[in-house]
Amino acid sequence: MATATLNIDLDALISNWRALDAETACETAAVVKANGYGLGADRVARTLMKIGVRKFFVAVAEEGAALRQAVGPDPEINIFGGHMAGDTDMISDMGLTPMLNSVDQIVRHVEALPAHPFGVQLDTGMNRLGLEPAEWAAVRNLVIERNPTLIMSHLACADEPEHPMNPRQLATFHEMTDGLNVPRSLAATGGILLGSDYHFDLTRPGVGLYGGMPFVEAAPVAGLSIPVIQIRDVAEGETVGYSNTWIADRPSRVATISAGYADGIIRAMGPEISVFAGEARCKVIGRISMDLIAVDVTDLDEAPSHVELLGQHQSVDTVAEAAGTIGYEILTSLGHRYARRYRGG
Ligand SMILES: *Cc1c(COP(=O)(O)O)cnc(C)c1O
Repeated sequence: MATATLNIDLDALISNWRALDAETACETAAVVKANGYGLGADRVARTLMKIGVRKFFVAVAEEGAALRQAVGPDPEINIFGGHMAGDTDMISDMGLTPMLNSVDQIVRHVEALPAHPFGVQLDTGMNRLGLEPAEWAAVRNLVIERNPTLIMSHLACADEPEHPMNPRQLATFHEMTDGLNVPRSLAATGGILLGSDYHFDLTRPGVGLYGGMPFVEAAPVAGLSIPVIQIRDVAEGETVGYSNTWIADRPSRVATISAGYADGIIRAMGPEISVFAGEARCKVIGRISMDLIAVDVTDLDEAPSHVELLGQHQSVDTVAEAAGTIGYEILTSLGHRYARRYRGG
């Protein structure tokens, strides 16, 4: 097969969810936005349902509608983007729970779907989504009367445990929500690891489920296996790839593998990353092309048929650092050209 394979280890997903759940005494949901961080929201959600997960979060209503088809009528599907203009029918028909972000959204929701469940998102300092303290103070009694399912907010700096923003947002969240008798949620993956003060009634991990930082102990979930298309010998002094950026300093064997930046192997990673043939590390050489990458296999005894770019030997976060980005972006950039193979679950 000429396409690369994205291997998704559902047992690792399960063990990551269980490990994050074990950090808290409260309920643990799962965030499956952006197609389950690129790994397939339908399979991820169905797997997590089997171990008891009943609450999911996605970014927008369209994602929620697709997820509803995959998980059936029972699980709660929450929409971070809230109730946007034009989404009313989808929210109603698909049984989605919008996290209302603004006074406008609250009015829209209550007028269009007065009996339909909703949550509320508060801004405790990130200034991205949610009602600010003054807005909340103005509407909160009216909102609470209508029994929201959840009041949530999001931490801006939870991946830095010592950051003073964390306790500041925590204090603001308390000021805005203490005594309201509605379930509360503040923590995503990073917030879970900040300790029990941050847990409230429900946590919302995403990236940690998929094996990414800041959950350092996470088991890797995504593996990427790429077939070798061709192997050639290159004489000392010859060049490989666009712009002649790599020059052989010895007689070399070069394998051309079938993936590139169109598959999410970001071009800027270039010389910083390797691939693995079994246990053997092979350097990426020259420029990463759209569909092809050259790797140095000179030191291998045998020509490999496949190499591994993500997996036990090289994590999503290692690759992310090479590209000057974060694991989240690597996962969600993984392309559509891969064959996806699920294991376990
Ligand atoms: C993406 C997101 C999450 C999950 O965050 P992770 O860092 O991936 O665990 C939780 N809550 C909100 C509001 C989000 O946007």
